[in-house]
Amino acid sequence: MSSRLTLIDETIARHPSLPREAIVKEDILRTGIAFSPEALALAADAKAKAYFIFSFDYVPLADMPQGEHWKAPEEVWLEGGPWGFRPTIISVRLNPQSPYRVEVDEGKPVLRVEGTTLTGVGLPPVPEYYTRKLSNGKRVIEIAPTIEWGYLVYLTVFRICQYFGKAEECQFCDINNNYRQQIEAGRPYTAVKSIDEILEALQIIADTDTVSHAYTITGGSVTTRLKGLSEVDFYAQYAEAIERKFPGRWISKMVTQALPKDEARKFKDAGVQIYHPNFEVWDERLFSIICPGKERYVGRQEWHRRILDAADLFGPSHVIPNMVGGIEMSRPHGFTDVEEAIRSTGEGLDFFMSHGVCPRFTTWCAEPLTTLGRTTPGGAPLEYHARLLETWRDTHARYQLPVPPGYGDPGSGRAVFSVSAFMDVIAPN
Ligand code: SF4
Repeated sequence: MSSRLTLIDETIARHPSLPREAIVKEDILRTGIAFSPEALALAADAKAKAYFIFSFDYVPLADMPQGEHWKAPEEVWLEGGPWGFRPTIISVRLNPQSPYRVEVDEGKPVLRVEGTTLTGVGLPPVPEYYTRKLSNGKRVIEIAPTIEWGYLVYLTVFRICQYFGKAEECQFCDINNNYRQQIEAGRPYTAVKSIDEILEALQIIADTDTVSHAYTITGGSVTTRLKGLSEVDFYAQYAEAIERKFPGRWISKMVTQALPKDEARKFKDAGVQIYHPNFEVWDERLFSIICPGKERYVGRQEWHRRILDAADLFGPSHVIPNMVGGIEMSRPHGFTDVEEAIRSTGEGLDFFMSHGVCPRFTTWCAEPLTTLGRTTPGGAPLEYHARLLETWRDTHARYQLPVPPGYGDPGSGRAVFSVSAFMDVIAPN
């Protein structure tokens, strides 16, 4: 048996309460996925990877031997095969060296691990709106891409972060380096999207689509001014314009820094329903090292206080801060022991969930154009990700919290959230 299959089998055996689909999903997200030339040819007719904010790849674009970044799909749908896999949607993080390869068998894509077929693969259909252009010639995929199998419209309205360089950028984040590499590769990649083009793209989606149910407004942090506006005023204007034109058409979500209560109130007034002030990593020492800009401008304690303040405004269930699952095991400063890392993160989950605030996590993609990707190219061990799923699920159940809103259906076989398996491990009602 191959070494990767052995790792999967052993992890599944150690965690019988987790759906095995969730364990494979986490392993693919932390490892990346490769495509054979034949599979890539099939994928060229599917919905393409839009590079909606970060690269979420394990190699730079310049090192894609087949030009995968132009042809790969946004996500894959795994189902069936020898294991009878339940439908599982996974974001495509390209890694030409990955043991997980999409290949073609009798004209159909399949997922193989070091040569052994694991599941069938569905590719995302191209939505009607991806065939349309705005009046300025830009494509909808650039201005208002969708992920989560079409559920979420992802509006990165500012593709750069004003935390610049090693001393300020979050050490896991490649937003600025990804922007540079996309421009160098010749991808149309608007740095600051105008409200008009966002509204025009959303109109096309509203006219042609019934699958999207939520949108996220996000982008880099604004530490000074952007177009003369502070962070809150810059981002709030998009929500306000969208909600004025399409009141209640989608669940509205905002990802920014944790802002003071009086500023966050502007989001609420603009019509934002769900607020994501991401705290990234719980441990105090690691937060200061991994998020140096956030530590200097806001500070960890104040960040957490603002999260709880926001719960007063939006309601606790509608404040959903993200953490990056795995960075607490990054080298050289992170935990080296899985149980210690889980104890720390579990403390953070307990803290927020005891206040009714339910953090979620994305699975760390150790991108090569980041500091942590260079020091820890393999990311965190699979055992860590399995333990995180269990800890998140059990803490969520212990506090009897509702299913986080804005993520679609929960449960293995139904979840659409594609960058971690946290929705896959919630037991459906
Ligand atoms: S605040 Fe940190 S995570 Fe957010 S875009 Fe800037 S560098 Fe990236």
